[in-house]
This record gives sequence, structure tokens and C-alpha cells, in this order.
Amino acid sequence: MSDDILLSVQNVVKYFPVQSGKLFRGAREFVHAVDGVNLEVHRGETLGLVGETGCGKSTLARCIARLYDLTSGRVVFDGHDISTLKTSALRPLRREMQIIFQDPYGSLNPRRRVGSIIGDPFAIHGLGDDKDRKRKVQEVMELVGLNPEHFNRFPAEFSGGQRQRIGVARALALRPKLIICDEPVSALDVSIQAQIINLLADLQQQLGLTYIFIAHDLSVVRHVSNRVGVMYLGKIVELAPVEPLYERPRHPYTNALLSAVPMPDPDLVEQRRQIILVGDVPSPINVPSGCRFHPRCPKAQPTCVETEPQLSPQLGDGSDHLAACHFPVAEGEDLTKAKPTIAASERVVEPHPV
Ligand code: SF4
Repeated sequence: MSDDILLSVQNVVKYFPVQSGKLFRGAREFVHAVDGVNLEVHRGETLGLVGETGCGKSTLARCIARLYDLTSGRVVFDGHDISTLKTSALRPLRREMQIIFQDPYGSLNPRRRVGSIIGDPFAIHGLGDDKDRKRKVQEVMELVGLNPEHFNRFPAEFSGGQRQRIGVARALALRPKLIICDEPVSALDVSIQAQIINLLADLQQQLGLTYIFIAHDLSVVRHVSNRVGVMYLGKIVELAPVEPLYERPRHPYTNALLSAVPMPDPDLVEQRRQIILVGDVPSPINVPSGCRFHPRCPKAQPTCVETEPQLSPQLGDGSDHLAACHFPVAEGEDLTKAKPTIAASERVVEPHPV
């Protein structure tokens, strides 16, 4: 593995068992939350992960941080295969990889003082005495723009944006190499979102951090990321640097997501044609055959029902722009005029073999 690569995710699969209906009492089915994801994260970059709710991006984040055991596949972090490590062996590596959660209200214990919450990582890893910890906690509070004198306050005494700063401070306490930001601004007012995003960008520059930034807001992801992965039903369907992904999206699903991004300029809104996808995201228990986007895809053809497309460069793209599609979207192609050549009744959803 190249030295530049901090994290390598190799064919990671995560299935959750569920009890099936009454007819087959006792039989088990599986939610295919993450289904064969491969990606690499370079040191110092921000990799954005986008997709609709339930596409598997948060589950993938938890697999990477080993908050979930993997069903199969490998996660190699900073040269160490952490896929099957037991808790005690994982502990030193956990210092290097932290998560900032979406909900700054729910992720902070309201009965504990902020200094003690931010100091948790020092206590968990047995680092320093009380005086030392207090000094380090106050340092990190200052770093994230909190008043160190508010060390003894409770979370309820802080605003939403300040509470997310507490979450950032807790993640930063041990100076990790990788921070997974799981929808870190989704629960915040738009005016506060920009402050937290700017804070994360400043910290990245100052401390050389690497981020995985998960969000469903494509405008936010464009602003913060170097590269972006688009997820659909447990798979990455497109992966590319920001500029080509937003300017020349190849996968019909990426095109549809981008066509729905709100635009500030009314003239541009009029010019743009929104791609309306048919139907809802299929059940992750019974995933569609072939390309799992085929029941909703405006370009679907019979091949799409039969053969699963692999992530690869399309239409002369470079090796860093990958899309999993048999009929990728060409520049200037108008997907609102595309007509699938398979009827709705031919679109196949079948139980996935486990
Ligand atoms: Fe659509 Fe076929 Fe491409 Fe899947 S492989 S995204 S169904 S055109």
C-alpha cells in the first residue's frame, strides 16, 4: 500500500440479519447495508460520501471505524489490517480515527460537564493526570473556538453550533489522523453550518487531518471535498474528484441527484431540467438483479437487468473518475428525454444470495 494512502477499504460487506415474515417463521433474511465497497483515502484529503438516506454511507463509516464487525472484506488503516482485530488490539488505533456524529444534542450526555465530555478520550486511554487532562481539554476547546473558561458548564448551556464544536473538540482531543464526519451539519441551522464547515477546513489545514465527510447535501459536499463517492443501495456507483463529478457526472443516479440540488440563481433554475426518478429506493433486503439502480433508471436496457456493472473509467475519463454503468451519460446528454427500453414489469427485484 502506498505511503500516501491512509485508509484502504477492500470489498467491505455488511449485512444485518432480520427475521422474515410469519410464513417462513424462523427463516432469516439480510439487509444488504454495504455490499462490496472498495475505496482508498489519501492522507490530508477530504473524501465526500453522498447518497439518499439508507444508502449505506453511515453503516460504511461505522464499519471503517470498526464500530460494526464486517460481514466480509478488509479495512487497512495506516498500514494495519483492522478488519478482525479484537477490542484491546483496536484501542491504540482508535486514537487515530475518530467520528463526529450528526446530532450535537443527542451525542452529548446532558448531565456531564463539557470538560469531562471532551476529556473522555484521555480517560479512556489512561493518558495524563487530572491537571494535565484539564490543560489539554482547555487547549482543544480554544482550538475549536470555545471559551476554555466554560469547562464546567453543561451541554444545555451551549447553542447548537457550540455543541457541535464540543463534538469536534472531543474528536480532536487525541489528535487523530482520520476524522469521519457523519452528517456533522445536517441538524444545524444554515447560518451555523458554514461556521462548522469553515472550522473543519481550518483544522484540516492546521493539523493535516484527513476527513471522510458524509452528507446528503451535495452542495456542502462539493464545498468541502477533494473527491466524492456516490452511494446507492450499499454500493459506490461513482467515484471521482469534485470537478469532474459535478461537471461531467457519468452515472444516471449522480445526474439525478445533481439535478435536484437547489440553485440560488432563478435563471439557472429555469434552464435546468430536473430528472424525476420513478419509484422509491428498493428494499435493501431484496435488491434488484444486475444494476441495482435499473428499476428507477431512465436509461435502463435489458443488459442492466442481467449484468452488474463494475466501477471503471467511462467515455475516455481518467483512471480517477469511475462509474458503474453500462450506458454512461455523455456530456450534454439530456436524461429527461431518455426512454428505458425495458417495461416496468420486466424490472427484476429478486432475493439476493447470501
Ligand atoms: Fe442505468 Fe443501466 Fe447504467 Fe444501471 S447500468 S445506471 S440501469 S444505464
